[in-house]
Amino acid sequence: MSDEQEPEPIADPIDIELEALYAQLDAAVAERAPVCQISGRCCRFREYGHTLFLSSIEFAYLVANAPPPIRPIDDGATCPWQDRVGRCTARTARPLGCRVYFCDPAYEGEAPELTEQFLGLLKRLAERHDRTWQYAPLHRHLRDREPSSADADSIAPIGEGPAANAGRQGPASGLAAGFFS
Ligand code: SF4
Repeated sequence: MSDEQEPEPIADPIDIELEALYAQLDAAVAERAPVCQISGRCCRFREYGHTLFLSSIEFAYLVANAPPPIRPIDDGATCPWQDRVGRCTARTARPLGCRVYFCDPAYEGEAPELTEQFLGLLKRLAERHDRTWQYAPLHRHLRDREPSSADADSIAPIGEGPAANAGRQGPASGLAAGFFS
């Protein structure tokens, strides 16, 4: 038996910068002190009339660092990482849109400015690391990740293994307005 230990995986430099950016955003949101009552409405997209958009670099980070989804991937109505009581099971890896969105009416006007500011930082991060900027709904990323997207219900749980799509291809979309629309 060998005493040699498995080497620690080397973190992708873009992930380190993305985590710093997320921490910066979390601090900016915390300063504004929005209230979350765990209504879960932010993650029930169709019921509340919004769509979660995220970039390729965020999606790659999400699937590499979140646990597998706890529910089947549907046609875009809900997030597969939301548990039965409305909590996020991908909290540490959730994308910018989830971090900035709160349904607190007192905070409502703050989200667009924060979104615009941090989208710009995200896009520059992708450019610095020569990564494709594909800004699309969560369920499009999930479907694109599969070899066959004909049957969304057949998609296996994700979240295991290395970040498979750090260099995903797709048209650069520029800065879209808001993560939820
Ligand atoms: S990743 Fe988490 S916070 Fe974002 S939509 Fe899904 S369950 Fe909600």
